[in-house]
Amino acid sequence: MKIISINAGSSSLKFTLFELPEKEVIASGLFEKIGIDGSLYTIKYNGEKIVKEVPLPDHSVAVECLMNDLIELGIVKDLEEIEGVGHRILHGGAEFSKPVVLDEEVVKRISKYNELGPLHNPANLLGVEVFMKKLPHAINVGVFDTAFHQTMEMDHFLYPVPYEWYEKYGVRRYGFHGTSHRFVYGEICKYLNRDDLKVITCHIGNGGSITAIDSGKVIETSMGFTPLAGIMMGTRCGDIDPSILEYMVNKTGKTIGEITNELNKKSGYLGISGVSSDSRDIEAAVEQGNERAILSQKMYIQKIANYIAMYNNMLNGADAIVLTAGVGENSCLSRKLILENIASLGVKLDESKNDFRGEFRCITTEDSKIPVYVIPTNEELMIALDTYEFKMAE
Ligand code: ADP
Repeated sequence: MKIISINAGSSSLKFTLFELPEKEVIASGLFEKIGIDGSLYTIKYNGEKIVKEVPLPDHSVAVECLMNDLIELGIVKDLEEIEGVGHRILHGGAEFSKPVVLDEEVVKRISKYNELGPLHNPANLLGVEVFMKKLPHAINVGVFDTAFHQTMEMDHFLYPVPYEWYEKYGVRRYGFHGTSHRFVYGEICKYLNRDDLKVITCHIGNGGSITAIDSGKVIETSMGFTPLAGIMMGTRCGDIDPSILEYMVNKTGKTIGEITNELNKKSGYLGISGVSSDSRDIEAAVEQGNERAILSQKMYIQKIANYIAMYNNMLNGADAIVLTAGVGENSCLSRKLILENIASLGVKLDESKNDFRGEFRCITTEDSKIPVYVIPTNEELMIALDTYEFKMAE
């Protein structure tokens, strides 16, 4: 059965077409600069990469191009072959703790949370609207970044602020990257043949979050009300003293929105190093002795190590630690530094096992108190599998 996984952003649309249950990727691609000058799209199929520069005034035109190409390239004979569309949706608030079949009424309910994810949710839902029109026969399923974390108990999701902020305005920790944390947790459980594992999953990419999971239930996760909280990231600050906001507004004359934007886009690795948000550039600059790059790397690693130690305590001792996403899967140096910084937990890196990228492997010694695994994440596949399950249950 063919299922397509969709991630619609405000000016982009990513897709992966799967054959399920075989988990085979048939085609994938990206539409960029939708509604902006210079729009283009890429489709990868059969080992080839097709790039087309065409006007894409809106998402509807992008999906139209995609559907036409799928037929023209012979990827599908008939659009009816695509039986399900899985949509990544950023925010489902506290209401959506699982993937859900989408119809107009459900989309309306999800749109209540647009103000909690104003950059992503409206675009995600626009993608849903377009696919509902273009593929009316297919099942549409929404898979939320926030859903997996909704098992958190109140003492873990509340902030110590006036209680009415939560009651009246929904101020609480929601957590993000849930689909990725759920996927790698599922992989480690399958591998170790247990479903009661206590695992610290570390999604470390451009964005990053760390989650403590016990028997499939999220105990706590490092992102919060928004993805700005938690560890230091490529361009986001992670946890800081909230008083800095008012102080910087007063000092600079900028608005809260402008300062918040700097915390999201000009902080983290980029802000401290002044070099880049990309850990590859940071590693190169560190090698050249760039002092601020060295400083930024120390800070980056410390924050990750501290969250792991805190979550190990919360879990009363984890059975495993999982590293995933761009940095976790590919940066041998970051992995080494992280493990060195959690040596107090009895974690021991086996250096001879750490020289690889993007594979499922254990990187610790036999006598490491907690084994550490690198597990490539696959949010697109998770979304497609969720969609497949609903389709099979129809
Ligand atoms: P996103 O959060 O945008 O999905 P990714 O999970 O793709 O991000 O992660 C992007 C990060 O992964 C970047 O900081 C990039 O430098 C890092 N990364 C990718 N490959 C490597 C590598 N070979 N060495 C070090 N870092 C890498």
